[in-house]
Amino acid sequence: AKENGKNNFQFFTKELEEKAAKKMMLERELHKALECGQFQLHYQPQFDIHSGHMIGVEALIRWKHPKIGMISPVDFIPLAEETGLIVPIGHWVLQTACRQNKKWQDNGFPPIRISVNVSARQFSQPHFVDTVKEVLEQTGLSPDWLDLEITESMTLEGEFFHSVLQKLKDLSIHVSVDDFGTGYSSLSSLRHFPVNRLKIDQTFVRTWDDKNKAIIAMIITLAKNLEMNVIAEGVETIEQAIFLKEMNCHEAQGYFYAKPVPVEEMDVFFQQLFIA
Ligand code: C2E
Ligand code: CA
Ligand code: CA
Ligand code: CA
Repeated sequence: AKENGKNNFQFFTKELEEKAAKKMMLERELHKALECGQFQLHYQPQFDIHSGHMIGVEALIRWKHPKIGMISPVDFIPLAEETGLIVPIGHWVLQTACRQNKKWQDNGFPPIRISVNVSARQFSQPHFVDTVKEVLEQTGLSPDWLDLEITESMTLEGEFFHSVLQKLKDLSIHVSVDDFGTGYSSLSSLRHFPVNRLKIDQTFVRTWDDKNKAIIAMIITLAKNLEMNVIAEGVETIEQAIFLKEMNCHEAQGYFYAKPVPVEEMDVFFQQLFIA
């Protein structure tokens, strides 16, 4: 048993070492990724449930490493946050997304809003609002067509966050609370926060049962009463889409409507806006 324990320990340390080595490797690669142009954005349409029109897109980062291949944001965004690399990466995302949205408008497409994910670390930068303003000026995109997605867990407490949100609102930039329903915001503080939209977390859609349906219905009602918009994400089935429509949810996003696509594949969604 003693021998065994020792072996287990050795195995365990080896595994930890491998994990640490893998993380170090990824971090090294992450440092180079931005300057080597390895990031791309994919875009996932968001729809008005009642008109069926595309009203926005969410920009989602993709990392295409020349040797490793595609690396999912769930595998590198946490590392980028930990190391602070999320600040330059997030800036690139914001710039690229705003530039792309302006380009669509310049092409004569009906204007839509672009949603950009902003991590806590980015949002807490002392000059975050100035940076956003600068990007809008540089790209020529009107603030009305930018939506910032911030997660519930980071937003809804504290004077600092409140003042940043207020400044964004004053600039007429749209703000959505991502992953709503899984964070810790108190409902009373939500009332005072200048945000435009609640984004119902995917987990409530993923397990499709009566309890989660009740939670979804409750969030829709809450948003309406707080005079906020509400969007459901991760919608995959027609059954879910019908339920959301019956509940008068405003907007939806998910594989049922459209998957995230590279920019070349966005034209078809704009075509639909001309046909509709
Ligand atoms: P998120 O912001 O909650 O984004 C939604 C995720 O769900 C995306 O995964 C999207 O591709 C996926 N998704 C969309 N529709 C469906 C569906 O119907 N079913 C299922 N199962 N999944 C669906 P993705 O692109 O892998 O991104 C994962 C997370 O990485 C995002 O979660 C976000 O937290 C983070 N992320 C992605 N891009 C950025 C970025 O530019 N900046 C920051 N800070 N975070 C990002
Ligand atoms: Ca998001
Ligand atoms: Ca989300
Ligand atoms: Ca998430």
